[in-house]
Amino acid sequence: MHDSILEIKQKLLSDLNDRMVEECPCTLRDSATRAVPGEGSANARVLLIGEAPGKNEDLQGVPFVGAAGTFLDEMLASIGLSRKDIYITNIVKYRPPNNRDPLPQEIEDCAKWLHEQIGIIDPLLIVTLGRHAMNHFFPDKKISEAHGNEFRREFPIGRSQVFYTLYHPAAALYNGGMRDTLKKDFSRIPTVLKRIQNGE
Ligand code: URA
Repeated sequence: MHDSILEIKQKLLSDLNDRMVEECPCTLRDSATRAVPGEGSANARVLLIGEAPGKNEDLQGVPFVGAAGTFLDEMLASIGLSRKDIYITNIVKYRPPNNRDPLPQEIEDCAKWLHEQIGIIDPLLIVTLGRHAMNHFFPDKKISEAHGNEFRREFPIGRSQVFYTLYHPAAALYNGGMRDTLKKDFSRIPTVLKRIQNGE
């Protein structure tokens, strides 16, 4: 019997993530405990992209497992989704020392894997979490102005992709105003998805 599309995509993603662990040129490999490739369904309609693994993610090899991850899980549940429905990853696949911002070279070195992940999953919607993920695709946008908005751009070449830009859950966690804004922006994800599905 032929493998289903889901099985094929899962195998492609798992092979890619194995190669990422073996071959990533990023120098963050030297200080990190392990790679954090990503987690979720290879068939996800929604791909969430954060910044970089933190301490807990580095220890467990899973993205968003700390306090920001719990907050993210709550927001997913509020729109009827769980981690198995989505795919979640970061622009940088290894923890930067002391959780510093990733450097441009580190982002560039890890981008190949991110772009291949996007190619395999082929999501309807890419949700960027925080300014680093947003600026990777939209270098000129400011998160304070762009959050809660949809943008369409060609990505990869020849394919029109919808992006939805949000504040980062870790930045919003302990900032009441930003937290409320993020929750409100997050609650619009089903509407954005519906619009894409209706070809709007
Ligand atoms: N913050 C991120 O951007 N990614 C993680 O995986 C955890 C925290």
